[in-house]
Formats: sequence, structure tokens, C-alpha cells
Amino acid sequence: MAEETEEIIEGEPDEHEIDAEARERRAVALAHVRKFGDPVLRTRAREIDVFDDALRDEVTRMGELMVDAVGVGLAATQLGVLHRLLVYRVQQDSPVIALVNPEIEWRGDDEEIAEEGCLSLPTVLVDVERPVHVRVRGLDEYGEPVLIEATGLEARVIQHELDHLDGVLILDRTTRDQRREAMRALREAQSPAAA
Ligand code: ZN
Repeated sequence: MAEETEEIIEGEPDEHEIDAEARERRAVALAHVRKFGDPVLRTRAREIDVFDDALRDEVTRMGELMVDAVGVGLAATQLGVLHRLLVYRVQQDSPVIALVNPEIEWRGDDEEIAEEGCLSLPTVLVDVERPVHVRVRGLDEYGEPVLIEATGLEARVIQHELDHLDGVLILDRTTRDQRREAMRALREAQSPAAA
């Protein structure tokens, strides 16, 4: 389990690991994801109280988008929908898990630093320290209670996505130096003419 935490959250896949068709699918998926500078990424999402077919369709769509984007997690906020819904899938071929109104009800004392990326922050990779173990309470897409004891990468992904629902980005959770470096990279990527 310890090794898994070295993996990158939502990050860039190795170019050689995906073929041209998968790259194209990824580009299409990424076009739907709100990027740094979009104010929705800094807005706290609202609780969900209606569990209907529209919500379940949204979960399906988010799961597909996340898989196409080669991410391991996605928050509704990243698609510009400001309600408290996230999906994740830590292991390939395992089902996508949806969490509605998730709350961390317990954090272990052990913390670990690992590199994280974010679909909303292209090219950025920063070190983020997070608790290794968390217990998360929430609802599934049918409104049924869910309790998840998560460790390692799963715990990290849930915390990363839950941060999105609160308008928090990995830039807020890294060191000052890494934040400064990331901001510079983001500015350069957004205004190539100025480079
Ligand atoms: Zn993210």
C-alpha cells in the first residue's frame, strides 16, 4: 500500500503508455474540465438533497470523463457543477465509486507527503502532506449511507476531491516555494505570448 501513495493524483499519464486514440479521448475529456483561474474552482459546493435519475446520469458521465481523462478522481466542481459530489477509482478495472455530501469524520495521526497533480492544473505537480488514514461518511447516488475506511492512495484521492468541493486546491496545501513555482508555470501556460 505504501508504494501506491507515490502515484500521482489526477496527473499526467506517461505519453508512451497510451495510444493515439486514448490521447484523443483524453484531450476531449480534459476540454470539459475547468482550469485554474476559473472562479468555480474557488467556490464551496452546496449539499445535495435530491437523489434522482439526473444525479445518477451525472455520476455516470463523471465516471466516464474521469476514465477518459486518465484521472483517479473527479469532483463535480471541476465540471462547473457546484454541488457536493465526487467520483474516484483508485484501481483500474474496479468500479467507479460516487460519494455525495462526503465528510471526513476521522483522520489518523500518520501523515505522508506525496506528489499530486490535478486535472484543473495542467502540468503542475506539487508535494502535498495528508493523513494516511481517514474515515469518510457520505451517501451514494441513491441516497444510501456509505462509510469508507480509506488508506494510502484511496485516502489521498478522497481528500483531494473533497478539497475541490470546498474550493481548495493543491496549491494551498504545498510549500511556499512549490506554490510560487507552480503559479509561474500556470501563468506561462496561460499567456504564451508573454513568454
Ligand atoms: Zn484536482
